[in-house]
Amino acid sequence: MNHTQIGQQIIDSVAQSVRESSDIPAIISSTLDTIHTQLHTSLTCFHVVDDIRQSYRLLGIHSSCDDDALAQRLHTLSGRVFPFFEWPGNQHQPLVIADVQADMCVEHREKWQYWTHEQIQSIIFIPLWFGNYYEGMLTAAFAAKLSQETTPVPTLLAVGTYIAAALVQARLKLTVQSEQTSLHTILDQLPEGAIIADAITGSIRYANEAAASLLQIPLAQLIGLPVHQFTRQHIPDVQKKAQGTLPPWNFFLIQALSGEIIRSKEATIVIPNGQKVVVLISCAPLSIKHDKQQILTGAIILFQDITKTKNVEQHKNEFISIASHELRTPITIIQGFADLLAHIPLETSSLNELTQSALMHIVDQSEYLTRLIDAMLDITRIEQQQLHLNLAMYDLHSLLSQVVDGQLMTTNRHQLHLTVEGLQEQEPLFGMFDKERIIQVISNLINNAIKYSPDGGAIEVGLRVVPIGKRSEKHLEAWIWVKDHGMGIAPDECSRIFERFYRARMTSNSSLSGFGIGLYVTKEIINRHGGRVWVESRLHEGSTFYIHLPLSLSPQIATEFVD
Ligand code: ADP
Repeated sequence: MNHTQIGQQIIDSVAQSVRESSDIPAIISSTLDTIHTQLHTSLTCFHVVDDIRQSYRLLGIHSSCDDDALAQRLHTLSGRVFPFFEWPGNQHQPLVIADVQADMCVEHREKWQYWTHEQIQSIIFIPLWFGNYYEGMLTAAFAAKLSQETTPVPTLLAVGTYIAAALVQARLKLTVQSEQTSLHTILDQLPEGAIIADAITGSIRYANEAAASLLQIPLAQLIGLPVHQFTRQHIPDVQKKAQGTLPPWNFFLIQALSGEIIRSKEATIVIPNGQKVVVLISCAPLSIKHDKQQILTGAIILFQDITKTKNVEQHKNEFISIASHELRTPITIIQGFADLLAHIPLETSSLNELTQSALMHIVDQSEYLTRLIDAMLDITRIEQQQLHLNLAMYDLHSLLSQVVDGQLMTTNRHQLHLTVEGLQEQEPLFGMFDKERIIQVISNLINNAIKYSPDGGAIEVGLRVVPIGKRSEKHLEAWIWVKDHGMGIAPDECSRIFERFYRARMTSNSSLSGFGIGLYVTKEIINRHGGRVWVESRLHEGSTFYIHLPLSLSPQIATEFVD
């Protein structure tokens, strides 16, 4: 066999042992044997370097004189022992001392007594690099001087790369394992169910006791179950129907396995006896950083049983819904009769002025009560996902004009006007929406603009038609805004005012009454139309509420929300 063939044989054998095993001591030992047998080295050894590249620890050694003392000496070395410090140049390059006697001065030889064993005539130092990772050093020393033709440097370089790769892999594995152990220790203690799924196999890699007891599957059985088939395998067909509209718990875990973060979503677990458990779920993908890249390794799901809370909420909603319906009828009757009596001209009625003004108060207050009841009914509809839309084609332009005209009568301190862009004065703007709900939304925004600018001022209601999307997917959107110059909203509250029952600090401290429901319902209505609503505001300067409303509903929204 010539040199090249021997070299190839060594490389093949090392490559094979790295491929077939992740056991570093075994790989090192077989590599040392191969190098020694094929290249007749007097001394071969591998050192791993520490994190700060200051000291080297012996990984394995093969010495022809089998000198224990030498192994002891080489066990832990300071970085300075390797002659690279004296030999300036690229530290990625191997260092070859072809003739120790000729190439090393006495001073150096004393310093490098570790390597200048009597029988050693030449030494090769191969730094172990894999990409940007520096793992240690391969040292090969020979009893003969090295010649240009017989130098095994290329072979040892290739061997070095394979060993460096194996070391990097082992180190990463260790890091992952130690992180996993600490994560599992924390998760074991959690009262919430926790499950980790593997990104490659898609099966459950870890589950805590709480998860096993929630799913009512023994922990040992849970580990290894494929996440995708979980529902099908463990829930009989009849029970599948019981899951209702909420997605099954593993649906979110699958989403997280494709990199999505999911926060506080409701889902269902159907336990083996067919009972349905509602859980609140959060999921996140798990990844490790390698070579500046995030590699997805799995996903974690945390879930908590909220069945009891949901039941209480359901009962509360049912109660509010029934009570509101029951209240609405008598109030409408009271309001109707009071209105009727209040409008009989004084000369034809037996009522005096005081009674008539009292009747007007009854009408006002019953209107207020009706609005409150309607708002409560809307809330329960939203919570029970029963806020349905009655969609039809309407002219948004004329609808807005009517609402603005109607609201004009309710204030004499504000200058309310409609601005229309991109449309002629009477030009219709047809769109598919729920007329009553859109009137409710715009009226609510105008009422708020009036209410929250108590000193009066201009209020602008605007409408603009905007084409959206590219050629084939082009559709029209109506952009609506309601702008006032009132008290404004603090920046940290601009998104919060759309939450249920939230009232901004400025207004809740004032004498202005309100329920904090209108904008919550507004947002829900606009979302269900496939649009969006938000506010831009400055304290003491005023607010502008914006709505982007698609004029043709996407088929998905249409089927999801339409009655
Ligand atoms: P309500 O007005 O009945 O309290 P809404 O849900 O309509 O309920 O509004 C929620 C809160 O948002 C209000 O309480 C108020 O603090 C704030 N808000 C709404 N519109 C305006 C506005 N135009 N200017 C200032 N604050 C507003």
